[in-house]
Amino acid sequence: MIQQSIDPEEDDEVNFQSFSHGLHIGGRWVQASNGRQIEVVDPSTEAVIAAVPDATLEDAASAVEAAALAAPGWRETAPRKRSEILRRCYELMVERSEMLAMLISMENGKALRDARGEVAYAAEFFRWNAEEAVRITGEFGIAPSGTNRIVVDYQPIGICVLITPWNFPAAMATRKIAPALAAGCTVILKPATETPLTAYALAAIYQEAGVPPGVVNVLTTTSPGPLTSAMLADPRVRKLSFTGSTGVGRTLLAEAAKHVISCSMELGGNAPLIVFDDADLDVALDGAMVAKMRNAGEACTAANRLYVQSGIHDAFVEGLTKRMAALVVGAGTDTATECGPMITRKAVAKIGRLVEEATLRGAKVQCGGTIPDGKGFFYPPTVLSEVPDDVEMAREEIFGPVAPVFRFESEEDVIARANDTEYGLAAYIFTRDLARGMRVASKVEAGMIALNRGLVSDPAAPFGGVKQSGLGREGGQHHGIAEFMEAKYIAASF
Ligand code: NAP
Repeated sequence: MIQQSIDPEEDDEVNFQSFSHGLHIGGRWVQASNGRQIEVVDPSTEAVIAAVPDATLEDAASAVEAAALAAPGWRETAPRKRSEILRRCYELMVERSEMLAMLISMENGKALRDARGEVAYAAEFFRWNAEEAVRITGEFGIAPSGTNRIVVDYQPIGICVLITPWNFPAAMATRKIAPALAAGCTVILKPATETPLTAYALAAIYQEAGVPPGVVNVLTTTSPGPLTSAMLADPRVRKLSFTGSTGVGRTLLAEAAKHVISCSMELGGNAPLIVFDDADLDVALDGAMVAKMRNAGEACTAANRLYVQSGIHDAFVEGLTKRMAALVVGAGTDTATECGPMITRKAVAKIGRLVEEATLRGAKVQCGGTIPDGKGFFYPPTVLSEVPDDVEMAREEIFGPVAPVFRFESEEDVIARANDTEYGLAAYIFTRDLARGMRVASKVEAGMIALNRGLVSDPAAPFGGVKQSGLGREGGQHHGIAEFMEAKYIAASF
C-alpha cells in the first residue's frame, strides 16, 4: 500500500509522481494486479510526465467489492453529515485550486486560465450538492379512491459506475460524484486514460475531507470495455453514468440493457450559434469567442456551426477573425496562453482533415488552417467563411479551435438548418429582440440554450441533451441527485 497526501504548504508545486502511485480502492492506493502502467503525456511538450496503474478485471472486482462494503454505512450516514463532508471537499478543492489547475493543464494541455475556470466549476458541484444533500424529501398524499395513503420515499440507487472523458478531467467527475454521494451512493470512477492524474488528486482530497474508504474508488485502465462489462454484470451495480462520445454511449447503453441498469448519458454535441441582424455585434462576438474557444474548442457544448444573418455577416466575420487571429497559442501551463494544444496528435489530424475537406468544397480560410511544425499537439485558431452546408464539419464534432461561419437569410431557414443534426446538446442565440430569442429558443432542438451569452454550464441548472446527445440531466435543482435515487412507493392503510 502506498500512502498519498497533498501538502497544503506545496499548493503551487505539482509533483506529478505523487498523483500516480496507485488505483484508489477501498481507501487504499494499490498497484494493478498485473503490475502494468499507463504513461501520461503532456500534450504541450509530448513529454511523459507520470504513469498510472493499468487496472485488470480482478482490480475492477475489488473496486466493486469495496463500494459494496462501504454502501450500508454511507447510505445510513445522516444527510447533514454527508453534506458537511461534501462541503469540506469543496473547501479543499478551492484551497488547492492552483495546484489542481496546474495538474489539469499539464495532463490535458488546456490553458491555465481555462483550467482555473474548470476547478472553480468542478468544486461548485460539491458546494451545490452539499446544500442539496439535506433537502432530499419524499411525497405524501391520499389515493384518489380514498382507501390509503401514498408515501413516496427516495432512496439511493446503489453502487454506481461513473465513466468520464478527458476534456474536463475534474468537472466531469465531480458533476457525477458529488450528487451520487449526496444521494447516499458509493461509486467507482473510471477517468479517461489521457487524464487520470486529476482524478487521483481529487480522490486524495475526498479522503482528506472525510469521505469514508470505499465510498469513492478510482480505476484507470486501457481495457475500458471489458472492465465496464464486468462491473455492470455484478448485480450489486445499479447505475451507469457516462460522459463521452455518442458512439461509446450507444455501446454502453446496449451493455447496460443486458442487466437492466439505470443509465445517465452525457454525449456528444454539434451546437449551432445563431446571430441575427439585430444582435449587438460586440455581445455576439464576445459570446462566440467563449462558446467556441473555451477549452480551445474541446467542449461538448462548443459552438460547432456559426449561422450569421446576411446583414451582420461581414462585420461578424471580420470581428471574429481579428479576435481569433490575436489569440496567444502556447503550452497550457504558460500563463499567457489563451489557446493550448489539442489532446492528441490524432485529434489534430482529424481537425486538419475536416478543414481540408471544407476548403476543397469552397470554404474560405480567414485565419489559421495550417498545422504548425514542432513539438506539441497544436492547431491554430481558425475561421472559415462561405462554408457550404454539406461539409463534414457541419455533421461531426470539430472539437478544436475552428469556427465555420454559414450565412443565412430568414428565421425559419436558420431554425431548420440548426436542427438538421442528430445531436441536441447546446445552442446559442444572439438577438436584441427578446420575443424572437424566446421563440427561436423554444424551436431549436437542444437541451440547453444560451441567449445573448456564450456559456450555459452552471451546477445550479440542469445540464444535458436531447436526441443523440444523451439521456438524463446533471446538476440543477433536484435533477442531478434524482439520477442517483429510486422512488419507493408505499401504499399505506391506517
Ligand atoms: P470517449 O472516447 O467516448 O471516452 C469517454 C470515456 O469512455 C473515457 O473514459 C474512455 O476511456 C471510456 N471508454 C471508451 N470506450 C469504452 C468502452 N467500450 N466501455 C467503457 N468505457 C469506454 O470520449 P472522449 O473522446 O474521451 O471525450 C470526448 C467526447 O465526450 C465528445 O464526444 C464530447 O462531446 C463528449 N462530452 C460530452 C459531455 C456532455 O456533458 N454531454 C461533456 C464532455 C464531453 P479511455 O480514455 O480509456 O478510452
